[in-house]
Amino acid sequence: MKPRILLCALLLAGTAGASAADRFDVAVTADDLPAHGTLPAGMTWAGIAHSYVDTLKAHGVPETWGFVNAKRIAENPASEAALDVWRQAGYPLGNHTYSHLGLSQAPSLEAWEADARAGEAVLKKHMAGHDWHVLRYPFLDAAGTGARHDGALDWLKKQGYRIADVSLGFDDWAYTETYARCLAKNDAAAIAGMKASYFRRVDQQLVRTKAMSQRVYGRTIPLVLLTHMGAWSAATLPEVMKRLDAAGAHYVTLDQAQSDAAYRAPSPHFGNGALMERQAQDAGIDLSGLPAVEPVGNLDALCR
Ligand SMILES: [Zn+2]
Repeated sequence: MKPRILLCALLLAGTAGASAADRFDVAVTADDLPAHGTLPAGMTWAGIAHSYVDTLKAHGVPETWGFVNAKRIAENPASEAALDVWRQAGYPLGNHTYSHLGLSQAPSLEAWEADARAGEAVLKKHMAGHDWHVLRYPFLDAAGTGARHDGALDWLKKQGYRIADVSLGFDDWAYTETYARCLAKNDAAAIAGMKASYFRRVDQQLVRTKAMSQRVYGRTIPLVLLTHMGAWSAATLPEVMKRLDAAGAHYVTLDQAQSDAAYRAPSPHFGNGALMERQAQDAGIDLSGLPAVEPVGNLDALCR
């Protein structure tokens, strides 16, 4: 087979199952760099980052913002190598506050601002010459509505920040600690069961999210996918990306996704939780009856 024909065959194989009508834009993002959760024995944070970016690059993801908690580097200096891996891939780093502090959990607005500021030195270092003023709220906690919510947004705007919203996620964080326990116990059957359930849930979440977008916006809006840079997410990302491809995903940058009007709609709850649920709440749209996603299940009980 001539190389060009082979390439076409591969491209066709890669889009099998998704018609042009299914196609939707997705910006991929990763939270909790350089270290999300427990590091399983025999792994390094740099290795996990390598696996992550190799998978994303293999699927043509042009950009993946990695949102950093610099406190993890103070706790484990070796983890900083994961940020080098990210930057070597050409992917940008943004702020997730220094200590992963929820805005509503902070002692005061000023304390939260100080924590966000404390996260900036490592961004200046690794993003020299590039704009790193993008913030993902830890826990997607923008303190509801009112003075603290508005004060934080005002402050962020004055600092030149834009907010990385979220409109798609698979609860990957919920599996992190159980996965580390099951690896330590060498419980391959438990891990296989977790993966089977997780991948079903990925497919179900994609169906649900598209249906929710239709109900809220009358169309499939560009999506912003939230992932977490830990061992579980890296191990499952190849299969997750295959399923995204099969569902019609076309990968774009965060700014491309968020240039859509859906991300610019004013909201008193701006920044809280996921975008579509927020818009539905603001607009009084009932989300009942959408395709369901099976529960994560009792992961706490596994591999004890
Ligand atoms: Zn986080």
